Amino acid sequence: MEISTIGVVGAGQMGNGIAHVCAQAGYGVMLTDVGQDALDRAQATIRRNMDRQVERGKTTEAERDDALGRIGTTLTLANLGAADLIIEAATERESVKQAIFEDLLPHLRPDTILTSNTSSISITRLASRTDRPEKFMGFHFMNPVPVMQLVELIRGIATDEDTYRACLGVVERLDKQAAVAEDFPAFMVNRILIPMINEAVYTLYEGVGTVTSIDTALKLGANHPMGPLALADFIGLDTCLAIMNVLHDGLADTKYRPCPLLVKYVEAGWLGRKTKRGFYDYRGDGEPVPTR
Ligand code: NAD
Repeated sequence: MEISTIGVVGAGQMGNGIAHVCAQAGYGVMLTDVGQDALDRAQATIRRNMDRQVERGKTTEAERDDALGRIGTTLTLANLGAADLIIEAATERESVKQAIFEDLLPHLRPDTILTSNTSSISITRLASRTDRPEKFMGFHFMNPVPVMQLVELIRGIATDEDTYRACLGVVERLDKQAAVAEDFPAFMVNRILIPMINEAVYTLYEGVGTVTSIDTALKLGANHPMGPLALADFIGLDTCLAIMNVLHDGLADTKYRPCPLLVKYVEAGWLGRKTKRGFYDYRGDGEPVPTR
């Protein structure tokens, strides 16, 4: 199936990045959200990020203007009716996503492919509540979307081969790499990454190392570009905890129990960079200061 128009639902952190890369790859994009302020913010962010790409010589002013011209915004879901592919990137709540697909379906052609950028919700369950589970797939971009090379494609139990091939074609046209996962809790990247972060928090909790020594150990000892605790602050400690809970609940294995220290940081509202304090304190002007 030929994809030329993509509807993106949710214009937050991920949705604006998805609209950005799709427009640059030549797709017509229609971006929607619940509030005009979110759409205005997304357009300003896309413009700013593309300006930065122009400054770095990654794209030209003419290409930027063409890409920006391919992004339409709307508050009306019905205006996504012409899309060949929907990428849902709204708030990570199952009831929200379910309602979006329900409201969207009457406006779509029967062959429009539905996808979700969810980090943790079952693709099979989301798909089962639509009229086309075989045309439903997980389309999991990494943050920040214009920079990160990977897209995890997640097959629900009913996803058919044509849908997978069409989605793979889109990933290739975006000049990104796909990794295919089956639909089990947290898929692949977060299944491996978040327990590693949780183990780093246990290492801190048990006093085996300090914040600085744990991050130094993994940066220099395993060649990771960022230590696991600095990475946790970047992702958001609430998000890390939510994913550990998805693994713990979904796989019923005690090896996925969230570290009590991670829970405590979240209870304190120390969620990482977004609240200016997590395993590091970002409130000063200088280098972040370890909080333990
Ligand atoms: P965000 O909070 O930045 O953006 C979510 C947007 O969805 C908001 O603008 C909100 O107004 C909008 N929204 C809520 N209800 C809506 C509705 N009914 N219709 C249209 N828009 C609606 O969140 P985000 O970080 O962009 O995450 C979006 C999705 O991407 C989530 O499913 C999340 O799990 C996934 N994801 C996030 C990351 C990440 O690092 N942040 C990485 C990969 C995947």
